[in-house]
Amino acid sequence: MNKQGHVALAVSIGSAALMFPFIASVNVESKMVLVLAAAIGGLAPDLDHKTSTSSQLIQFSAKKRRMFRNLSCFSAAMGLLLYMLQFVSSGLSEFMNTWMLWLGAAILFFLLARLRNLVLIGTGAILLVAYSFYAWHWITAFMGLAFLILPVVKHRGIIHTPEFAFILSMGLIGFSSLQPELVQMFIIGFVIGWWAHLLGDIFGSDGIHSLLLPKLGIALHLFRNGGPVERSISRVCWLSTILMLGCVLLNIKI
Ligand SMILES: [Zn+2]
Repeated sequence: MNKQGHVALAVSIGSAALMFPFIASVNVESKMVLVLAAAIGGLAPDLDHKTSTSSQLIQFSAKKRRMFRNLSCFSAAMGLLLYMLQFVSSGLSEFMNTWMLWLGAAILFFLLARLRNLVLIGTGAILLVAYSFYAWHWITAFMGLAFLILPVVKHRGIIHTPEFAFILSMGLIGFSSLQPELVQMFIIGFVIGWWAHLLGDIFGSDGIHSLLLPKLGIALHLFRNGGPVERSISRVCWLSTILMLGCVLLNIKI
């Protein structure tokens, strides 16, 4: 399933969840936050894909990344050249003294080219620090580790497994029980969206597999990624979402 399909499915399941008694009693703002969070959760698992929509939010375009990589190589070469010229040339010109600046620029351009990794590792490190210094909920450490491994895991690998989703859901729901209603609904929506994403991948040709038993996988091959069947499913999902949200906003009981 591609991003349109994932969002449509997540939002429709999120809207359907509004009918559950314990969610039906919360205020309208919290319900809308739940549906919005479902859309975010529906895209989040694809953070393990280098060019997915969620990854594109934390990195430059492919063209700019290439430009930064080239600038990094050029700056590094300039830095090394100027550094070596200091030894062969007798006169110490001002320009040769700038070799350190060139190497600094090379590192900066390198990091800009790999902004996604920087953001993921940085977020992971912040979460782990928060867990160890402020004794935050264990889900902080779990998510911190997940962010740290994201730059190296393969797409539809560990992040897409039901075992990962299960631990993530348990941790997040456990954490949410101590939070205000709005945060609680956001987390519930996010978890719903995450599972909806896995469901979407199961229906399509991509499939998901178990972490503990990697040979155990499921792919129903019901439609082609982004194909006409998926587009029809998306339309049905959006239509049902509109109907369900209409009922919620107009306070109609189904
Ligand atoms: Zn996926």
